[in-house]
Amino acid sequence: MPKKYRIAIFSCASLKNSDFKLSNCPKEFFGLAKIIELRTFYWPNWSDSGVEQGLDWVFVRIKKNSAEKLDFIKKIRKNSKHLIKMENSDFCNNKTGFKSKNWIKNIRFDAFVPDCPLSAYEFFGFLHRVLIDKKPDGENPVCYECQLAGHECLLKKGKICFGPITRGGCKAFCLQHGRACWGCRGLLEDAQVKNLTVKLKKENYSQSQIKKHLTTMSFSNKSD
Ligand code: SF4
Ligand code: SF4
Repeated sequence: MPKKYRIAIFSCASLKNSDFKLSNCPKEFFGLAKIIELRTFYWPNWSDSGVEQGLDWVFVRIKKNSAEKLDFIKKIRKNSKHLIKMENSDFCNNKTGFKSKNWIKNIRFDAFVPDCPLSAYEFFGFLHRVLIDKKPDGENPVCYECQLAGHECLLKKGKICFGPITRGGCKAFCLQHGRACWGCRGLLEDAQVKNLTVKLKKENYSQSQIKKHLTTMSFSNKSD
């Protein structure tokens, strides 16, 4: 029998909603049962010294920091081939005043899966891509999924929508429900914030209106 990938999920975040979303996906886990072995899915006891060795893909949900957590994550890093960070977008971090980047900046992560909000579709999509297709997916903006779904473009109608500069993966959830994207999943890596600003100015939005919207998203420093 071919070797199965040994997967572990450690939740270091207080927000259990995302854990429930994953634990509510038995079908998706069973669908991958031929190639993965889910070794662990739990909230660790931080002082626990027993991190299993030889894990292939380890997902760690990160929120509040502590020295114990940092030590624990270092142990996970040592014992796993691939360490994936599941973390809030900059928007959520800025709004909650939480900056995980500082306390774990010296830990190497191999990839990132957004956790605010966590999308089980995105999580399993990631697993499929890395374990089956073997190719990482390029990062797409929300617009990509919005247009695939055939939604009418709000920006073309002169309304503010952050879809072009926001990291996709939510299946354009807000557009599905008739609302503009407000950027909760964070800024796309090569986001063209200035282009969006120019476009909005052409639609007669003032600099201060645009700035106000971008500030809400903590994106304002990218528009200058
Ligand atoms: S700007 Fe907004 S409405 Fe238009 S395609 Fe992008 S996400 Fe969809
Ligand atoms: S605000 Fe944008 S990124 Fe967040 S769920 Fe809505 S469409 Fe997706």
